Amino acid sequence: MTQFSGKSVYKGIALGKVRVLRKQDEAVRRRKTEDAKSEILRVAEAGERAKEQLRNLYDKALGQVGEVSAAIFEVHQMMLEDEDYLESIRNIIRTESVNAEYAVAVTGDNFFKMFAAMEDDYMKARASDVKDISNRLIRILEGREDNDLTSMAPSILVADDLTPSETVQMDKEKILAFVTVHGSSNSHTAILARLRNIPALIGVPMDLGEIQDGMWAVVDGFAGTVLFNPDEGERARARKRIEEERENFRLLEELKGKETVTIDGRKLKLYANIGSVSDIGYVLENDAEGIGLFRSEFLYLGREDFPTEEEQFLAYRQAAQTMGGKKVIIRTLDIGADKQADYFNLGEEENPAMGYRGIRICLKQQDIFKTQLRAIFRAAVFGNISIMYPMITSVEEVQEIFRVVKEVQGELDGAKTPYKYPEQGIMIETPAAVMISDELAGLVDFFSIGTNDLTQYTLAIDRQNEKLDDFYNPHHKAILRMIRMVTENAHKHGKWVGLCGELGADLGLTEEFVRMGLDELSVSPSMVLKVRKKIREMESGAEN
Ligand code: PEP
Ligand code: MG
Repeated sequence: MTQFSGKSVYKGIALGKVRVLRKQDEAVRRRKTEDAKSEILRVAEAGERAKEQLRNLYDKALGQVGEVSAAIFEVHQMMLEDEDYLESIRNIIRTESVNAEYAVAVTGDNFFKMFAAMEDDYMKARASDVKDISNRLIRILEGREDNDLTSMAPSILVADDLTPSETVQMDKEKILAFVTVHGSSNSHTAILARLRNIPALIGVPMDLGEIQDGMWAVVDGFAGTVLFNPDEGERARARKRIEEERENFRLLEELKGKETVTIDGRKLKLYANIGSVSDIGYVLENDAEGIGLFRSEFLYLGREDFPTEEEQFLAYRQAAQTMGGKKVIIRTLDIGADKQADYFNLGEEENPAMGYRGIRICLKQQDIFKTQLRAIFRAAVFGNISIMYPMITSVEEVQEIFRVVKEVQGELDGAKTPYKYPEQGIMIETPAAVMISDELAGLVDFFSIGTNDLTQYTLAIDRQNEKLDDFYNPHHKAILRMIRMVTENAHKHGKWVGLCGELGADLGLTEEFVRMGLDELSVSPSMVLKVRKKIREMESGAEN
């Protein structure tokens, strides 16, 4: 048995077999070879195997996400037959007398650069496809397993680190727990783990070379430990604790259908945060009263190209209809920083958290923004949709947003497309927005305070940087005073104010939030009933 400690992101217990997710893009070694012929033959065989994998992926995707999204796997198959691409690989093997892996890697790099430099947006977006097929070929040539997790049995996923686009593609039913060497507790990957009730540990100092697929492990999110190769006694203890946890959940179930109200009668709206339509099941399961933050950017992640207006419309409409008249607050695209999609071609930035992201992209690349606005406005006909904009820092930005919104309305009117004008809110997640919240409150219908970013920008602490986890203190007086100030400013203008950062689920602060007068809390679905319990057991002593 080997035990490691790390930082817990979601408290829960898991017992199961391990699946190690190894990095895809480790450096490829260059080897000299006398036998160019066999290397060329290896490339041909790897190409056939890759096409077979892609055919399987196409079939699976067709059933799960439909023809449009599955089509990418057909494109990849065609690219693997491209004569220029194949000839470049063969040529490098022949002229440089090198191994197949190296020739594929060099060709992949060259083609990536060539596509990325093209003017045409469609061709530009193919750059990441070339990278993808080249990585697939290299994996096959090196005899490594495909990282496709769709056929995996339920497992404890062990990795060096995980990006949000990797996590978002995973099927929750198949992940018993996450254990990673790196990662920070405020990252979006950690947020996803909490959203899906998946026990997760980060910052675990393990050597991935020593851990094999199929090993047993126990993850204890309460103690922050992972135990590899547990003996039968440890496994039995884990099973018992999993049963106890289930019992705790059953007790909380009694709060389903009950109001979120203090002993002295102050009601709060208790909503849940989601990343995709498939998370709505957890929202309903945990009896949230609405969706307070739909992180729409996850629709853009883990794919090869922009989602179309129709795809987005269908997703938002499904959310509105499934929630059956309960509020669904859709936050517009907040891509950038840790949430990257290659086809946006955002490029490298010194300081991505303070870079080209969120509303800044939407206001600069208004076609992307307008497509999303049209989809949301159209879907609003089918339920109770509100919209909110992230990363606001100025009055001018809000005015520019409303100018674009007006244009979109004009276009929809012109085309006689049915739509509804949704309630309009903004996120307060920059210190600038806090300081001018009195002015902003006059412009919008509501505020939602994003404490994850507000903490990072106020304390000058990168939320992604694991070294700073101990300094990231969302309980800092500065943050709490800001929340109070924003609440007061919203109320002065008769607007409602919510909080949708991770802090909303901090049971140590629930009483303070209620007393400050916040009107809404939006938390991960797994926390809804715990927060409701806390509120139902307190007096509000309301100040506002
Ligand atoms: C926040 O910043 O608090 C927030 C809710 O948004 P995100 O975590 O997606 O940046
Ligand atoms: Mg944010």
